[in-house]
Amino acid sequence: MKFIVGNWKMNGNMESKDSLLKSLKNIHTDNKIVVCLPFTLLYGNNYGITLGAQDISEHTNGAYTGDISGQMLVDADVKYVIVGHSERRLYHNETNEIVCAKAKAAIKNKIIPIICIGETAEEKHAGRTMSVVKKMLLESIPKTGDYIVAYEPRWAIGSGQTPTTDEIAAVFETIYKALSGIKRENTPLLYGGSVNGDNAKQIVSIPHVGGLLVGGASLKSDTFLPIIKSID
Ligand code: PEP
Repeated sequence: MKFIVGNWKMNGNMESKDSLLKSLKNIHTDNKIVVCLPFTLLYGNNYGITLGAQDISEHTNGAYTGDISGQMLVDADVKYVIVGHSERRLYHNETNEIVCAKAKAAIKNKIIPIICIGETAEEKHAGRTMSVVKKMLLESIPKTGDYIVAYEPRWAIGSGQTPTTDEIAAVFETIYKALSGIKRENTPLLYGGSVNGDNAKQIVSIPHVGGLLVGGASLKSDTFLPIIKSID
């Protein structure tokens, strides 16, 4: 079973949500499909499709204007939440420490956090991918509870560029070894960054790749369904 997780980011409306989820309902797959929607789209008919959110507050409740708590996500029947997406790390200054606190808040509410890590183009060109990814991983994951890790090279997100198969394999080997070192080798590991219907099958065949985190291509059934069908 592979995970195929859509990340809608700040896109979509009730109509486009309805259209995508309706099309997913008719798909037969052994893989696990999750769609991470903007907060306002989480309520309402989801056609039985598993929903995720894109952020969670590290706090339980109180004076945190604009934030959404774990309990609020539970009320909306959310099962997964993306934490530490590179856009949140970049535009909202989320550090590994904050990401870890958010992952803990999700786990406390029985929501599975999808913890994102990945190097910038500069770090890659400086030959620092492995050290950066390993540090982000070990500082962002909580000590207890179930979680998923998503490796998303920042330069691959929304750019149409992906690492080579060998590059992905090397990073996943590093992540797998680091998690094995703390007895968390069963953690599902996702790849994210410019996944489409043409490259999805090849990427999930790489050792230790347990699924995909899909941004732009998850917005419409025209582009999301070919990814899902290609890895069935
Ligand atoms: C993402 O934002 O998580 C992502 C993977 O985006 P895209 O698929 O558009 O590169």
